[in-house]
Formats: sequence, C-alpha cells, structure tokens
Amino acid sequence: MKTKLVENPDELFVEFLSDVNQKYNKADIELIKTAYSFAKAAHGEQKRYSGEPFIIHPISVAQILLTLDPPVAVLQAALLHDTVEDTPVEIKEIEKKFGSEVAVLVDGVTKLDSIKAGPDAEAETVRKMIITMSRDIRVLVIKLADRLHNARTWEFAPVESAKKKAQQTLEIYAPLADRMGLGVIKLELENLSFQTLHPKIYDEIVRLVESSEEKRNELITNFIDAVRAELEKLEIKADITGRPKHYYSIYLKMVNRGVDFHDMYDLLAIRILVDSVRDCYGALGAIHAIWPPISGRFKDYIARPKYNGYQSLHTSVSGPGSPIEVQIRTYDMHHHAEYGVAAHWIYKEKSKSGKAAPKNGVKDLEKGTNLKWLNQLLDWQSETQDSKEFLESLRTDLGPEKVYVFTPQGKVTELPDAATPVDFAYSVHTRVGESAIGAKVNGKMVTLDTILQNGDTVEILTSKSENAGPSADWLEFVKSPRAKNKIRQWFSKSRREQSIEEGHESLSRALEKEHIDTKQALSEKVLKEIANQMNLSDTQAIYASIGEGKVSTMNILNRLKKILGVDEKNENTILTSKPTKVDENNPGVIAEGVDSLWIKLAKCCLPVPGDEIVGFITKGHGITVHRSDCKNVKSLTNDSDRFIDVQWSSSANARFNVRIKVEAIDRDNLLSELSSAIAENHVSTITFTATTTENKVAIFIITVEIAEQRQLNALFATIRKIDGVYDVFRTKGE
Ligand code: MN
Repeated sequence: MKTKLVENPDELFVEFLSDVNQKYNKADIELIKTAYSFAKAAHGEQKRYSGEPFIIHPISVAQILLTLDPPVAVLQAALLHDTVEDTPVEIKEIEKKFGSEVAVLVDGVTKLDSIKAGPDAEAETVRKMIITMSRDIRVLVIKLADRLHNARTWEFAPVESAKKKAQQTLEIYAPLADRMGLGVIKLELENLSFQTLHPKIYDEIVRLVESSEEKRNELITNFIDAVRAELEKLEIKADITGRPKHYYSIYLKMVNRGVDFHDMYDLLAIRILVDSVRDCYGALGAIHAIWPPISGRFKDYIARPKYNGYQSLHTSVSGPGSPIEVQIRTYDMHHHAEYGVAAHWIYKEKSKSGKAAPKNGVKDLEKGTNLKWLNQLLDWQSETQDSKEFLESLRTDLGPEKVYVFTPQGKVTELPDAATPVDFAYSVHTRVGESAIGAKVNGKMVTLDTILQNGDTVEILTSKSENAGPSADWLEFVKSPRAKNKIRQWFSKSRREQSIEEGHESLSRALEKEHIDTKQALSEKVLKEIANQMNLSDTQAIYASIGEGKVSTMNILNRLKKILGVDEKNENTILTSKPTKVDENNPGVIAEGVDSLWIKLAKCCLPVPGDEIVGFITKGHGITVHRSDCKNVKSLTNDSDRFIDVQWSSSANARFNVRIKVEAIDRDNLLSELSSAIAENHVSTITFTATTTENKVAIFIITVEIAEQRQLNALFATIRKIDGVYDVFRTKGE
C-alpha cells in the first residue's frame, strides 16, 4: 500500500468541492461547506494513526459517497459522522444546526459504531444485528464508506488491530455491501482485508497475476477483436473490456475450489456492455457461434437475478488458446452492479429536479423481469417508508424476526422476538436459567418477564442455593424452544439425570467443533481414565459435573485430547519418513583441545556451516554445538563458564541436517513440485511433514541434508519459484 499523506485538509476539501460543484446546486454546496467547517472545528487537533489531521477522514468518506450521487444530507452526515462519537458535540446540536434528517443519519452511524461484538459472536449474527439496528438504509451506506476509508489506511494502524478489523470486514461489511449491491465497495473492502490479513499470500498472487499478464493481454486482445467484428456484423453496439479478476477472488478460487492458478478461467475475463436486453442475448448467441461454451458455466442472471438484484449473462467459452469468462449486460445493469441500492438516489433526485431520467434508464428497466427489485428502487419516494421496507426485505431474507442483546461482557446473543431475561439466562447456560431470580436490563432491575429490545444489555441475578430451580409460570412467557424444553425437563426429571444429559450434550458439541470422533473419544475406556484422574466415582459423574457447572467442558475436552493424542491445531500429517541421521563422527566443528568425537550438533537448532555457533560443555556427553541465537542457549547463560568457543572446520565431507519451513497456498501438484525442487538441487530429504490449515495454507517442515550454506540458498531460490509458495525459511523449533 502506498498512501499519499494529506497535510492540508482544506486542499482536499477544495478538490472534493470541485466534484460536488458538477452535481449539486448552490444551496446544497453551502450546506456542505457549513458541515465541513463545523466538523473541522469540532475535531480540532485530533490526528489519525497516519499523523494526518482527523478531518481528512470525514472528507474522504464523503468523497467515497459522492461516487454514488447521494442526496445532500448524506454528504453532510458523512462530514459530521464522527463528531458525536469522538468530540464533545452532542446530537442535539447537530439537529439544531443541520436539521433532523442529518441528525438521524449521524445518530445512526454513531449507534452502529457502539456495537461491540464479543469475540465469539457469529459474523452472521452481527450482520443481522447491524441491519436490525439501522433504521435508515443510508446509515448503512455511510457506515460502509466509513469502513472503506479506514481500510485504505490500515497500513498506519497497529498490525493486530488492523487484522482484527480486516477479519470483521470480510465477515460482516463486505457481505453487507454485497447484499446491498454495492459491488465496487465490496471488491475494494475484500482486497484490502485480504492484503492486511495475509500480506505474503497477497503478494504472491499479485506476482502470479503480473507474471502472466503479457500472455493474458494478448489473448484478451485477440478475443475482443474477434467479438467486436462479429457484433458489428449484427449491428450490436457494445463496449468490450478485458479485466483482471480481483486478487481476493483468485485466492478464494485457489483455496476453496482448489483451482490451479494457471487453469483459472476468470483471469481472462471479458465484460460486454450493450444497450438493451435483446442485445445481451444477441451478443451471447454471436459468441457461442464462434467458440463453444463450456458446459455448466452459463448463467442467466437476467431472467433470474441474484438476491441483490444483480443482472448479467455469464458464460465461459473455449476461446483462442484458453478458456475465457464472459459477462454480458446492459449499461444500466452494470450501474446497478456497481452502485446497487444507491442507484435509486439518482432516479429520485432527477425526478425531483424535473430533469430527464438517465440514459438507458427506466424504460429499459420496466421491460426487465426483476420488477420487484426495481419497484423497490423506483418507489423510493418517501424516505422513511421505503427505507424501512428495504430493511424489511433484507430481514426477510435473513429469516424470522430476532432480537439481539448483549451480555455484560458485550457479547451478542440472538434470541427470538419478544424474548425475556429467562430466555437469555437459558441461552447462557441451563444452570443460569434454573437459578435465575432477577435481571438487570441496561443496569436497571426488571422483572423476569420483561420483553427485551434490540441492543439491550442483560445481566442475570442468580441464587447460590443448591435448591434453586425454575418456576412453572415461566413457561407462559418464555419464547425460545431451548428455555421451554429445559424448564419442562426440570419438572419432569431428576436433577442428576438432567445434568448428565446436559454434560453429555455439551461435551459432544465441543468434540464436534474440533472434528473429533465422539464415539472414539467418549468410549468407556477413555472416560474411565479421566474419571480416575479426577477422582470421580464413575464415568457418568464426568457428565454430571459438567452439567452442574462444577467443571468446564474445556477442561474435560483438553483431558480427552491429551489421552487421544490429538494435536491442538487439528492438522493432518500427510507424510513423515526416514529417521534423522546425523554424521555424528564428523560434525565439522572444531573446539580447541577437544577431540571431535566429543562434539555434537544440537538437535534443537541444527546449525550448519556459516551459522554463528557456540559450544556448550555438557555433563559427561562432550560438547554440544548450538546456533548462537538458539533459544536453548539463552536459557543456559547462567552456566556461562560452561560455554566454549568453537569454529567450523573446512572438512569437505561433513553433511548437516537443516530444518526448513515452506508456506504456500495449498493446491494440486504442490507436493510433487516441491519434491522435484528438492531433487533438482541434489539435496536429500531426511524428514518431511506436510500439514494443511483450515484456510488452505500448506505448511511443509522438511529436514534436508546439505553440505554448505550455498546449497541451501540455491534450494530456497528454487522453492520460491514454485507458484503459490509465499515463504521459505529455516526454522529452529518443530
Ligand atoms: Mn469514521
């Protein structure tokens, strides 16, 4: 990322205004100027991480929004969006100065910012909550622009915080942008998040794309020329462009579908924009007449638009020399694909000011089949009404009504509509539900049948008594099936049975989450061992103690894992081979006055010639040679008199084991290409383990036998050239 820093915010604002001038009338421009002066004064000396004046941020957010041609209130709100959260300015003041429309928007963005999602909150839950809590769709659009500008400047933020935000952006904001049809914002959010989360993988994909650019350009040019000639014959006017697929979707393809980079259709993608729906199908027919379509790749999103209203024809054909993906759509569909829900702003503004509808506008749309979606956009006359409707439609997509509340720790919990503190208590833990005697909502005592509202923070007061239990009349007001069932069970069963059942359920769920086979894990033999460890009378007592909350599920899970020998990372070892063999008689190291038979290379750090080394005199086992930077050496420094100077000898036939780590984007043939890279360098492999992590990163730990540092450098150079490999280095530990 190379971001140009802005020193003078006024210059940036003038630049912004020059774009505004072309789209807004004098009165609107005055409103924008006033909002700017107010926000600038409010933020005063505040700075961004980059060291720039804070006001740069609101201007940039307004700049992003300007591409969507929003109503002027959106631009005012963008300029003011952080004043209430980050300065002493109060929302009342905004309302007095700028009116209620702007105030509602600023207030909405401020409230969205206050959503704290606990670390375990499901992304989908938070996403739904954001939709539920935004009363106005324009609030969401401002929020997305806000996130986009922050993402563009993550390079200045502390790495850990940037990564957290990037993860959240991929899980929450990019899908939201997608749902709202804001294609341009979605793509940029994804790329920036991807780059922040996996900088090395990102660089590798950029390299892959660049290295294949020339060949790709040639293919695209040939293809476009051929298509253009054909369309001219049919008198179809078209804009044809070749575009590179964005990096994040290349990564997803490689990782999720295991597509090899060089087999990726989408790298060669053509977009054809035409005037009418009829021309879309005409162009499609023309292309299929020249190159055969690849079966299973044709999608008619014109007849059946995507959930977010996206319309286009997609096909892939066996083009000249390589498969090529083609997207065909009208200009208007294209505008919708890029600006989604915001596209309605144009219609609304234009019709208000009495100007003509945009080119390829309404007329073409009415012929389209996606009437429901279009009506939604075109009927956007009364702001609150339609904004609500749109949110409503988003929510129907998301399933039945829910209410989202917080634990005192700020964790989001999803409950059915009209849920009560009792439902909340049971969602935390059955024991909490059973011992609930009261509740606080937003810090105030309430009765247990109080109906919870979105955004409430709920705290449950429990009884410490052994005999605490639910009340039968709770059944009349609880809403969640879980609470209902648990209350009924309590009255129908003995407590112990119930605890056993719960403990079993909780442990099984934990095992499933870790992909551990429950049958094997919960066998009588394994459980007996744990019961013994914990001095419990029988194996049922293990479940009971989980259910009663005496011992955590995690505790038992960890014991199970230890007994089963499950690695915590859940990695699959594909291959290990040959035991390590070191030429112990000739380590190639000399220490003054010591016979080389007494010198050994340390197994922890595996030094090779060229490394800085140090000898350590062990009790009765001669000298162990470590790398100077070995962790174990640091822990030995108390015994500094047992260190001895050692040097590499120039002995020719010494061979050394080196452990290296290779990190790559997992794909087919990676293993075989890696093996040939090693063979090519005449290096023999001593041990080889390959693991893949959840996000399809392949990690190889390889111990190789080499004679000298130079050989290792050559090996590294060859391995780095393998497509998908983004890191190779010597590793000290396992
Ligand atoms: Mn902001």
